[in-house]
Amino acid sequence: MAKYTRLTGTQDILPEEQRYWEHFRQTVAQVALDYGFDRIDLPIFEMTELFARGVGENTDIVEKEMYSFQDKGDRDITLRPEFTAGVVRAYIENGLHVQPKPVKLYSIGPAFRYERPQAGRYRQLHQYNAEIIGESGPMADLEIMLMAWDIYARLDFQGLAFQLNATGCPACRPTYIETLAAHYRARQDALCDDCLRRLEQNPLRLLDCKREACQGHIAAAPKITAHLCAECDAHFAELRGFLDDLGRPYTLNHTLVRGLDYYTKTVFEVWAEGIGAQSAVCGGGRYDGLIELIGGPATPAVGFAAGIERAVLVMKEQDVEVPALPTPPVYIAYLGDACRQYAVRLLVHLREAGLGAQIAMGGSLRSQLRHANKRDARFALIIGEDEMAADVVMVRDLHAGDQETVAQDALIATLRSRLDA
Ligand code: ATP
Ligand code: MG
Repeated sequence: MAKYTRLTGTQDILPEEQRYWEHFRQTVAQVALDYGFDRIDLPIFEMTELFARGVGENTDIVEKEMYSFQDKGDRDITLRPEFTAGVVRAYIENGLHVQPKPVKLYSIGPAFRYERPQAGRYRQLHQYNAEIIGESGPMADLEIMLMAWDIYARLDFQGLAFQLNATGCPACRPTYIETLAAHYRARQDALCDDCLRRLEQNPLRLLDCKREACQGHIAAAPKITAHLCAECDAHFAELRGFLDDLGRPYTLNHTLVRGLDYYTKTVFEVWAEGIGAQSAVCGGGRYDGLIELIGGPATPAVGFAAGIERAVLVMKEQDVEVPALPTPPVYIAYLGDACRQYAVRLLVHLREAGLGAQIAMGGSLRSQLRHANKRDARFALIIGEDEMAADVVMVRDLHAGDQETVAQDALIATLRSRLDA
């Protein structure tokens, strides 16, 4: 038994899992390149206040889920629970607003939320995050949605669907929230404790309640899309027009309010088959007020975050074809101590020529060759005393199953031409 174990809600991503993660990373990097997004890397911890303000004081994330602590200099610090607040902080702090707009940024890495762990829900999670900053029109919303979709389409996920809603803006949301609160006040006696609290503090979150008993109140609740101002209504109609024109399927979901306070206008999720109750692999929306809220110039923006753990779950569940990770093509095996030094010289020579190579650290030739197979080497180079004396190497092609004796000075060219064939 191990004396130390990993903490609840964290994962070791073992070597055999890495090909799924790498496949995701390569796919999103290619999508970002194709869509013209620049990479940005940010600190994993920030001032607590950035998230409290940015994500919203009355959200589940800020109220219950943040990993916050004081450092040795008594600073209040939080491990990022999401990326957008940090991206916006960096955008303002580094003067990125002077760049031609829109500014398109992506980021990838861990985030931390104190949640109840279950399949697809961890306390250290990993996200890919993309933002378009400085464009208010629905084309930017469309671009973000297309990009999110494209990731999963390129990963060959089945059963993809957009969930879509509009959440209004400071002009129309307050009136809607009043209407929503009135609907709930009339049912006050039947609400769960969380909903009673939400009713007081953040009524929009009422639509988020996961309890069975509250689902009826949600279904009967007034819909925000019937209370949008003219601008929000036109924005939403134009976005849907684009999606309709492209034939991208979406479901209007009036309960989709998302867990962060900063959203305005569009919110969406991408759902995929195969991850059970946690059906969202990705979520995002527009946040036109956030940059100003954090102290920058008023700037519209829209973005999304994609969870990597859930994407990996779907890859496995749906048997998505995931390429094997590359391995060095050459494995050097040798007979006994007498050939060892010669073998090491050959190893260094191959590496200097730019060929990936590993060498047996000892053992019988049999066990060395077994290891070469296990490590998925393409070639085993076998060196015995006869080969040493004649300055040749036995090249066994482990994929083709043949072998030939090759002169030392022709070795690299032979390996290269076989690799290229
Ligand atoms: P959920 O409704 O599932 O809690 P969320 O609305 O909190 O998701 P976001 O904050 O928008 O999610 O994050 C975007 C994506 O990050 C989610 O769609 C999901 O794939 C992933 N994600 C969120 N929380 C977790 C978690 N605790 N563990 C693993 N992945 C997560
Ligand atoms: Mg959540």
